[in-house]
Amino acid sequence: PLILAIESSCDETAASIIDGQGGLHSDVVASQIDFHSRFGGVVPEIASRKHIEAICGVCDECLATAAASLGVGSLRWRDLDAVAVTYAPGLVGALVVGLAFAKGAAWGADKPLIAVNHLEGHLYANRIAEPGMQPPMVVSLVSGGHTMLVHVRDWGDYETMGSTIDDAVGEAFDKVAKALGLGYPGGPIISKLAAKGNPKAIAFPRALMHSGDLRFSLSGLKTAVTTYIQKEQQAGRELNMPDIAASFEAAVVDVQVAKAKAALIETGAKEFCLGGGVAANPMLRGAYEKMCRKLGVRLTMPPLSACGDQAAMIAEVARDRFAQGRFADLSLDVKAHAPLDEPY
Ligand code: ATP
Ligand code: MG
Ligand code: FE
Repeated sequence: PLILAIESSCDETAASIIDGQGGLHSDVVASQIDFHSRFGGVVPEIASRKHIEAICGVCDECLATAAASLGVGSLRWRDLDAVAVTYAPGLVGALVVGLAFAKGAAWGADKPLIAVNHLEGHLYANRIAEPGMQPPMVVSLVSGGHTMLVHVRDWGDYETMGSTIDDAVGEAFDKVAKALGLGYPGGPIISKLAAKGNPKAIAFPRALMHSGDLRFSLSGLKTAVTTYIQKEQQAGRELNMPDIAASFEAAVVDVQVAKAKAALIETGAKEFCLGGGVAANPMLRGAYEKMCRKLGVRLTMPPLSACGDQAAMIAEVARDRFAQGRFADLSLDVKAHAPLDEPY
């Protein structure tokens, strides 16, 4: 089968076409970052409007690219076998655009509609990189809106082992970058700076590191960094941005690694993978490589291009739903929050 998947949960308008064997025939992403960066974060109202402007063009390009990849003259909606879409979690007004468009396309072409959870997409981004990977495994989902460790007992069978009690990791990167006056999104900017800094320069707190459970807390770290900056400025000292960035990252990474290790030991899983925008962070990736080597656990990481939001990961989930015959009907609605294992 050929499935077209649409993703519009935040500030990327994306579409991808996949075949039944997992072959990707197109993967189009239109980012809105330029429209949000001047506000230091995603503005929901702007996101919705930009999705509306972009979605037709993104889907047209997706169909045209796939036609070329398949060696056919053209590809129309009626040539597809299903239309998949992210319905949750995310910005409601952004999700609505993708969902309404997908419903219209599915209805017009008389094709089944498939509902996909965005977080399950981030998990499946690993399977694009490593088609043979098999649960049981542990996945660390680290993104702009989520920070959690999930036991993947099987594809579609999940147990959330722990998550953040306040900010998400990506959110902490974005807030710290904002405090440093560095722009949005903070993750890529901070990781570039951190590469030139000393991670041991400043001792930022490792919250809940020894809490004995798998919860995370990041709002205190953000406050510690902003307090440090204020103190240094008041003392008239020049800020060493690379050292601040590297020390902040090290505090994040130490806790992430300690908790991931505990989750692997608790489950006995021999596979570990990551998903979400923060999975692109070089210090985090390096630390996980080391940890997994020591534990004798197989590590899979999405390629850098598949860590952030795109539709290929949504298409990869949709491939399973199609094979299972699990379709949604036109009463499907979006949701700001949804557990990973909501049955759809
Ligand atoms: P969610 O997936 O929880 O709904 P989202 O879709 O907005 O949230 P993603 O697009 O998956 O989040 O990830 C975006 C986040 O990843 C941003 O907070 C960004 O700063 C962060 N990020 C991107 N690259 C890096 C990096 N190299 N290091 C750290 N963080 C990064
Ligand atoms: Mg984004
Ligand atoms: Fe995401």
